[in-house]
Amino acid sequence: MEIHPKVREVLTTLEEHSHRAYAVGGCVRDIMMGRTPTDWDITTSATPEQIQELFPDNFYDNAFGTVTVKTRDEDPLVRTIQITPFRIEGKYSDQRHPDEIRFAKTIEEDLSRRDFTVNAMALSADGTLVDPYDGRADLAAKVIRAVGDADARITEDALRMMRAVRFAATLDFSIHEATLKALTRHAALLERISAERIRDELTKIINSARAMEGIQLLDDTGLLRFIIPELREGVGVEQNLHHIYTVWEHNLRTMHYAAQKGYSFPVRMACLLHDVGKPRTKRGQGRHCTFYAHDAVGATMAKKIMERLRYPGEVVDAVVRLVRYHMFYYSVGEVTESSVRRLIANVGLEHIDDLLRLREGDRIGSGTPKAVPYKLRHLKYMIDKVSHDPISVKMLKVNGEDIMQSLGIPPGPKIGLILNTLLAEALDDPNINTRELLLKRAEGLNTSSAADLKSSLERIERARDAEEKERMKKYYV
Ligand code: ATP
Ligand code: MG
Repeated sequence: MEIHPKVREVLTTLEEHSHRAYAVGGCVRDIMMGRTPTDWDITTSATPEQIQELFPDNFYDNAFGTVTVKTRDEDPLVRTIQITPFRIEGKYSDQRHPDEIRFAKTIEEDLSRRDFTVNAMALSADGTLVDPYDGRADLAAKVIRAVGDADARITEDALRMMRAVRFAATLDFSIHEATLKALTRHAALLERISAERIRDELTKIINSARAMEGIQLLDDTGLLRFIIPELREGVGVEQNLHHIYTVWEHNLRTMHYAAQKGYSFPVRMACLLHDVGKPRTKRGQGRHCTFYAHDAVGATMAKKIMERLRYPGEVVDAVVRLVRYHMFYYSVGEVTESSVRRLIANVGLEHIDDLLRLREGDRIGSGTPKAVPYKLRHLKYMIDKVSHDPISVKMLKVNGEDIMQSLGIPPGPKIGLILNTLLAEALDDPNINTRELLLKRAEGLNTSSAADLKSSLERIERARDAEEKERMKKYYV
């Protein structure tokens, strides 16, 4: 058990001024598991004023009595240390926040307000462990157990249900029976918790190596109904001859692959959601049932889910694109350069590698992976080959300014329509991407009205969609 020297120094300073002081919570749990804590919390009998006096370089948060001390240590993990006076929490009447926070006299009182036994241990500078709930035994048995009465602790603060699952997933622990029962009983209280706080715990679950087990646990406890109910539509939904798992299992296993590979959060999330549209698009039964357009339907659902969970715009966008285009078709000989350019234009060059990762997870997670390494290598070669071709309006050799000047027309929607038409044509034939040819072509386009340009662009889009659908019928959907 090693307390960081800087933390020990702070503890000792407090003790020298006849206060009691302990490292507490997650950091104690972590060092007892032989892990390096990500942050250090100290709890003390000193008041916020006394703490501030001893450590003048600080930041004070009135709401919790927490004084954040700036140590300016070279180790970034202890550059700031949070010191909070012993605290107890009053009654909870909203399942979220204590009605009042009071300072406490003893470390035991402070530990009694904490969520789980493994999080309710304190360690003093001389190495004395204060562990009234035998967190040490639960740590050894790898168990998450509520401090005291599980029902009472969960109903006080419903976020603890998410935290229980999160710790089970990130630490590879199981949840103790009585605590698990309390989660199951009170799952509906999750509706009282803000989407942001649910999101933060969900993200940690999905980013853990045991993401699949974590989501399964959310489902077993009934919590998932209040987080991503759409995923549950896939429970028991059988698929066609290309799969051995139900839609639900397949989504989980695809995410499991991404978690094992250590892929980024958006890839994991896209894997989890990639077939969320299948139950609503299933036609027929048995080995030859189909799921046409499940990618488009799924993308719409994914957007709703991600926005409801208040993920930042760029994360929503990345996940939605991956879900939308995960069915891209690639077969050596049939895939043309222009179709690869169109894929890149749709997905964005920066997301292409993630799309291939999702597709690989999809293949492995089907339970009947076909051998495709050669096809994939070929696709990567094609992507490389066309990635310098114009695949976005930005990569065209003319911009809106050029068009307006050369054609002598004012700003307006027509400029964008001309640029997008030029791009659609360049995707088919990158050779037209010279200033001279584009301006000449723009002159021709300018003779059409904005309305005509718009409908002809839509015609191109529709033709592409029809082409894609045709190809996908031959492929598994
Ligand atoms: P992490 O590794 O994510 O930092 P942690 O256990 O340190 O895990 P924090 O959210 O940093 O978790 O909280 C620090 C400590 O505060 C916890 O270990 C626990 O003792 C207590 N705590 C945090 N949130 C709650 C809660 N909702 N209810 C009760 N105690 C809590
Ligand atoms: Mg912490």
